[in-house]
Formats: sequence, structure tokens, C-alpha cells
Amino acid sequence: MLDTILSFVAPHLCSGCGEIGTPLCDNCKYNITQDPFLSCLSCGKPTGAGGNLCLSCRPGYNKAWCVGERSGVLQRLVGNYKFQNMHAVHRSLSSLLDESLPNLPPETIIVPIPTSASHIRERGYDHMLLVVRHFARLRQLEVQQVVGRRGATVQHHANRQKRLAQVKQTFFVNHPIDVTVPYLIIDDVVTTGATVGYVSKLLRQAGAKQVWVAAIARQPID
Ligand SMILES: [Zn+2]
Ligand SMILES: [Zn+2]
Repeated sequence: MLDTILSFVAPHLCSGCGEIGTPLCDNCKYNITQDPFLSCLSCGKPTGAGGNLCLSCRPGYNKAWCVGERSGVLQRLVGNYKFQNMHAVHRSLSSLLDESLPNLPPETIIVPIPTSASHIRERGYDHMLLVVRHFARLRQLEVQQVVGRRGATVQHHANRQKRLAQVKQTFFVNHPIDVTVPYLIIDDVVTTGATVGYVSKLLRQAGAKQVWVAAIARQPID
């Protein structure tokens, strides 16, 4: 509602072509989904069709999917959402996830990677929870916030080792795990994979047999 009112004041522009009216027009969305991401979410090597986890990686999760590389239109779209506070982008992002992921069993539980309290305060909302809730509605799946987060922030520019140490202090399981159902962890951008890998291991240690990961974008390896 607030978003609708605001869109009259400052209309949304497509992050791809600048068309007025939506953060991502149908054409630009089509261009993203017609160019599927065919690399391993964990190591970046080519995987071919059928998911984004190669046979040699053992990152803690059993399956992975990713909408695309963090570049071009997808990078601008995610940037507009995370850093420009374009609230309406959550619908574009969940719709991209919906089109990029296969059918999931109806008992699948969706788990958002919790956002840090300071980022929620800055934006006024939990940006990942919005995406995840909208995606779950599209797929008629249940969301459970089974992972909690302590105050410390994970530094995005820290090296892999430092980042993993921070991740281990940050996340914990705060809810009983149903061993019979698959858990799908959703994150926005996967960089080193330390967060989704560690959270997957936490869920496995808590008893989950199937832990899957979906990401909106993967940071290209430079
Ligand atoms: Zn467009
Ligand atoms: Zn791999």
C-alpha cells in the first residue's frame, strides 16, 4: 500500500532498460531467466543444467540453485533493493527465484538467512524475509525462521578465513528440526559461500537430512 502510494511520487524504473512502472520489466526479466546460471554455487566451475552444485564440492548442502551471476541487470536490481531501499524489488526477486527453481516437494521448509539487526533498522524491514515470504506464497510453501543471528556483523571484505570465523559466531539454530522434510535456505548474494555453507552444516548437525540452498546472485570470482 505504502509502496503503491510512493510509486506515484517516484515511479519505479526498470533496473535493466529504465522503463517506467516496475523495478524489472517483463522483457528484462525474460533476458535473465532465459540465460540460466550453469555454474557451481560453491566453486564456480561449470555444472551444466540441473542445479548449481558440482560433483566435487561438499559444501554442507545437498542441492543448490542460483538465478545468475552478480553482474549487469541482476547486479543493479539487487543493489537497488539492498542499498537504494527500493522496497518493491522484493517481488521481482522472488519472481526470479520462482522461475529459476524447479518444483519443490510440498513439505519443503523455507529458511531465510537472517538479516543483521542494524541493517533491518537502516531499511525499516528485513529485506530477505520479504523476498522469502513472497516466494513461499508463490510456491505455497512454509517459511520457518529456524536460524537466529547474534549481533556481530559479517564483514563483506574480510578474507575467507576471517569471514568463516565471523560466520561461526553469528548464526545458530533456534528451532527444532524435522528430520523428514527438506530445508531450503535462501540468501541474496553468495560471495565465498561461507554463510550458506555454515548454516547448512548447522541444520545438518541439528538433524536435517536434506538441506538445499537457493541464491539470487553469485559474486563472480575475480
Ligand atoms: Zn526493462
Ligand atoms: Zn563446485
